Amino acid sequence: MTVTHKYDVVIAGGGLVGNAVALALAGENLRVAVVDPLAATTQLDAAFDGRTSAISLGSVRVLRAIGVWQFLAAEASPIHDIRVCDGYAPGYVHYAAKEVGEEPFGYILENRMLRHGLYEALARATNITRYSLRSVTGYVAEPDSVTATLENGETLTGQLLVAADGRLSRLRDAAGMDYRVISYDQTAIVCAVTHANPHHGLALERFLPPGPFAVLPLADSADGQHRSGIVWTEHDRDAPIFLALPEEEFNAELMRRMGAYWGETRVIGKRFSYPLTLMHATRFTAPRFALVGDAAHGIHPIAGQGVNLGYRDVAALTEILAGQHRQGGDLGAPEPLAHYERWRKFDSVSMTASTDLLNRLFSNRSPGLTFLRRSGLKMVEQMPPLKHFFMRHAMGLIGDLPKMMRSEVLPK
Ligand SMILES: Cc1cc2nc3c(=O)[nH]c(=O)nc-3n(C[C@H](O)[C@H](O)[C@H](O)COP(=O)(O)OP(=O)(O)OC[C@H]3O[C@@H](n4cnc5c(N)ncnc54)[C@H](O)[C@@H]3O)c2cc1C
Repeated sequence: MTVTHKYDVVIAGGGLVGNAVALALAGENLRVAVVDPLAATTQLDAAFDGRTSAISLGSVRVLRAIGVWQFLAAEASPIHDIRVCDGYAPGYVHYAAKEVGEEPFGYILENRMLRHGLYEALARATNITRYSLRSVTGYVAEPDSVTATLENGETLTGQLLVAADGRLSRLRDAAGMDYRVISYDQTAIVCAVTHANPHHGLALERFLPPGPFAVLPLADSADGQHRSGIVWTEHDRDAPIFLALPEEEFNAELMRRMGAYWGETRVIGKRFSYPLTLMHATRFTAPRFALVGDAAHGIHPIAGQGVNLGYRDVAALTEILAGQHRQGGDLGAPEPLAHYERWRKFDSVSMTASTDLLNRLFSNRSPGLTFLRRSGLKMVEQMPPLKHFFMRHAMGLIGDLPKMMRSEVLPK
C-alpha cells in the first residue's frame, strides 16, 4: 500500500539552499517536507565539503531572519577589505568596507559550519519534516496539488514542489526544463591554511592565467591559529599535479601565489577539488514546481556569489508565498510562480553572465586583454562612484531586493 503524507510545500534537496527555504517557509506557518538522500552526519562531516563561502551582507540578513545566524556568528569572519590583483603586476584595486558604511562586505564561513547552523535551526523548527536517506525520483502535477514520489514508493503531496537538488537536478529534468551548460575546463583546488600573521579581515583575489586564486579570511582556530580558506583555480589538465604535490611543495606554491602579507603558510587537512561549470535553466518554474539555488543557476565561483544568489531565491520565493498564504491563495497557482520567475530571472542571468565574462577576461595571457583589464582596474581604483557601486554589489545590496534582505527586517 502506498503511504501518502500531506504538506503545504515539498522540497527536494536539503543542502545549503533547500534547508534555508524550509526554515523560511516554516517561519510563515507553512507545513514543509524536506527530502535528501544524505544523512545529516554525512553532510556535517569534515571530509564532505571543504569549501568556504563568502556570505554577503544581504545573505546574512536572510540567515538572521530564518533563525540561523545566531549559530554562525561566532564562527564567521568579517571581510573588511578586498584586494584585487592582475597576476603579479604591481598595483591593485583595494576595496575597503568602511568606505561605504559601518558593516563589513560580508563574512567567510566554512560550508560545514553553515550546514551546522542550518541543522541547529532545523532541530528547533516545528513545521518541518525531514526525510533523509531518501531521494525524490519524480513527481506528478495535478490541477490542485502536486505529488512527489520517493524511491521507496512513499509519496508526499503539497501545493508546490520546490527543487533544491543542485546543479545536476533530476527534478529539473523530470519537469522537462531546458538548461545551458558550459564547462570551463577549470578545476577549483580548495583547502584551508594556517598562517603566521593575522589577516585583519583581508580577502585577496589574484587573477592568474589558469583562473582566479582567492584567499578568504577565516576565524582563528580554537587554539588561536590564524586561518584562511583557499580557492585556487587551475586548468583541468594541471589540477591533479598540484593536488598531488608533497606538502612542502604545495605550501611553497601557495605562498608564491599569496604573497608576503600572511607570512609562513601551511595547508591544514584535506585538499578538495571541484570541476567548474556554468549551468542556467531557461525556465525557473513549471506547473506547481519551482527551482531554487544551483538547480536553477550554477555559476563560476570567481565572485563568490553562487549561494548568495540561492539565498536571494529563498527570500523572494518566501515573500511571494507568504503573501499568497495570508490571502488564503493557492501556493502553486500560476501567478505567484510567474512572479517568482520574473523576479529572479534578471538577477541570476546577469550574475551568471558577468561571472562568465570576468572569468574569460581574466583567465588568459592575451596581451590585448591584459592591457584592457589592467586599464579597467586602474579606472575602477580612480573612480569612487564606480568603486562604491561594485562594493555595494559585493555586499548583495543592489537590485530589487526581497524584504528579508533589506535592513528594516530586525534580526530574530
Ligand atoms: C569551489 C567553489 C567555491 C564556492 N564559493 C562560494 C562562495 O564563496 N560564495 C557563494 O555564495 N557561493 C560559492 N560557491 C557556490 C555554492 O557552493 C553553491 O551555490 C551552493 O552549494 C549551492 O547550494 P544548493 O543547496 O543549491 O545545492 P547543493 O549544495 O548541490 O545541494 C543539493 C542537495 O540536493 C540533494 N539531492 C540531490 N538529488 C536529490 C533528489 N533527487 N532528491 C532529493 N534531494 C536530492 C543533494 O544530496 C544535496 O544535499 C562555490 C562553489 C564552488 C564549486
